[in-house]
Amino acid sequence: MVKLSYHIGIGGIPITEQILPRGAFIQRDKQTYGIVPRSPLGIITPEFLEKIAHVVRKYDIPIVKMTSAQRLALVGLKPEVIEDVWTDLGMDPAPAIGHCVHYVKACPGKAVCRFGILDALNLGMLLEKQLVGMDLPGKTKVGISGCPNNCCEGYLRDIGLFGKKKGWTLIVGGTSGRKPRIGDVIAENLTDDQAVMLIQKCLDYYKNNAKPRERISRLIERMGIEPLKDAVLAPKKGES
Ligand code: SF4
Repeated sequence: MVKLSYHIGIGGIPITEQILPRGAFIQRDKQTYGIVPRSPLGIITPEFLEKIAHVVRKYDIPIVKMTSAQRLALVGLKPEVIEDVWTDLGMDPAPAIGHCVHYVKACPGKAVCRFGILDALNLGMLLEKQLVGMDLPGKTKVGISGCPNNCCEGYLRDIGLFGKKKGWTLIVGGTSGRKPRIGDVIAENLTDDQAVMLIQKCLDYYKNNAKPRERISRLIERMGIEPLKDAVLAPKKGES
């Protein structure tokens, strides 16, 4: 549980010294919360669905909504039940807000899609394990697509990847929202391992150079793309 360091007026009564339920975000009514249980890469199992159905019925959760990030949001929870909901789900609270990697979104890629060239789900799972929850200066979203059709919108994600015959193309610094930006291509023809390593370097650069709450897109606008490229693409001593 996280202590609130500010006051929120609810029904005329300020909530002071209250606790912010873990993994939850406040709703418009300022009385209820949403949570987003983890469903890595948007892959859903019968067990996951059964757990969701169980808590929705038990806690009378009014809204279950698919998000644009291939996740299920449970919305309208009273704060006092949120810990119990996580316990019943058997899950640790998932990052839905805050300054960290929120999610890795991946398309079906060559595992399923007839256009797929590379295995977006496999690389997505590697990145999900490595990155989700990682503390960073601002929120960070990752989109991986198995071919240049880019169904997971890599050019509009903080980190984007799409597959071509010779390997992955890595894009950094895209965003949608109020001030959209098309990301910059950092490297092409990467293997899975090279992509994972290069993304880690990009995030290290981001950590070391961004102001608090600054997204990668705004960092690149402020400093330019070349310093980032120099930092992440230049071989270190001992590297060929
Ligand atoms: S990006 Fe390509 S592989 Fe992925 S779903 Fe779209 S068309 Fe299929």
